[in-house]
Amino acid sequence: MTNSMIGVVGAGVMGAGVGEDLARHGFHVVLVDVSGDALEHARSNIRKSVRAARLFDKSASVASPEDVLSKIGFSTDLDDLAAAEVVIENATEDVAIKEPIYRALDRICSDGCIFIANTSCIPIAKLGGFTARPDRVIGIHFMNPVPMKRTVELIAGAQTSEATVSAVTELMARLNKECVRVKDSPGFVSNRVLMVTINEAIRLVEEGVADADGVDRIFRSCFGHPMGPLATGDLIGLDTILRSLEVLQDSYGDDKYRPCNLLTEMVRSHRYGRKTGEGFFKYA
Ligand code: NAD
Repeated sequence: MTNSMIGVVGAGVMGAGVGEDLARHGFHVVLVDVSGDALEHARSNIRKSVRAARLFDKSASVASPEDVLSKIGFSTDLDDLAAAEVVIENATEDVAIKEPIYRALDRICSDGCIFIANTSCIPIAKLGGFTARPDRVIGIHFMNPVPMKRTVELIAGAQTSEATVSAVTELMARLNKECVRVKDSPGFVSNRVLMVTINEAIRLVEEGVADADGVDRIFRSCFGHPMGPLATGDLIGLDTILRSLEVLQDSYGDDKYRPCNLLTEMVRSHRYGRKTGEGFFKYA
């Protein structure tokens, strides 16, 4: 893989993190979103995140915010990804939103371009089926915040080629990330477990068994988790948690994935967590 341009679709929580990580490792990036506001927000979040990384790591190995941002183009037009060698898709967790993106990218990008889906729960074979290149469609489930996390889940769909697996494993190595390969099954490994855990933690608050702080304190203090399930839900985005549970419930037809009422209410009232400033906890 050369240092040519990598396209990143979706400039929300994950797209901004993926774009930042790529640029910090020397790649040229074009970040595309349907929303100009999301792009502006991503630009500002990347600047803050790189500043924070430089405060944390005094070794001067982290480029300046200006250097990082100079490697990223911001666009609302998927056609700007025509020259991409790889496109990493991070749009909203909804098949109805992702399908037209894959169909458009398949028309716009060169035949050799690899599409990486950063989905929480949607099977990769399904996304590959929206293109004429399912052998070059693969899943990488990045962890949040992307620049700080060293491990990803790698998911090969039924038709993903081993050449694609090798090229993408090499790309992840250039981002200092190790891949754990898992089967193409809705929710993969991490979200089959995590989404049910977060939903159940929310149900405990809904039933008044403990408040949000109490639930999270038990996980931090008793189990040594760095964050409790509710702060994790706020970090991921409660809207994304709700969509992921809906995908899991549809895929497995199992009621254990049914989103609890409090989660639905919080999303309805735009309390998504960190990205809106309030979820189970408040953020400045
Ligand atoms: P988000 O809601 O923060 O961002 C999604 C972005 O997609 C928004 O900015 C939206 O405007 C954009 N978008 C919607 N339609 C689009 C289109 N047609 N073209 C271009 N952009 C479009 O969501 P997120 O948390 O960044 O999640 C993105 C993907 O990553 C989802 O599939 C999610 O399941 C997955 N994911 C999320 C996390 C997490 O911790 N949040 C972790 C791993 C994977």
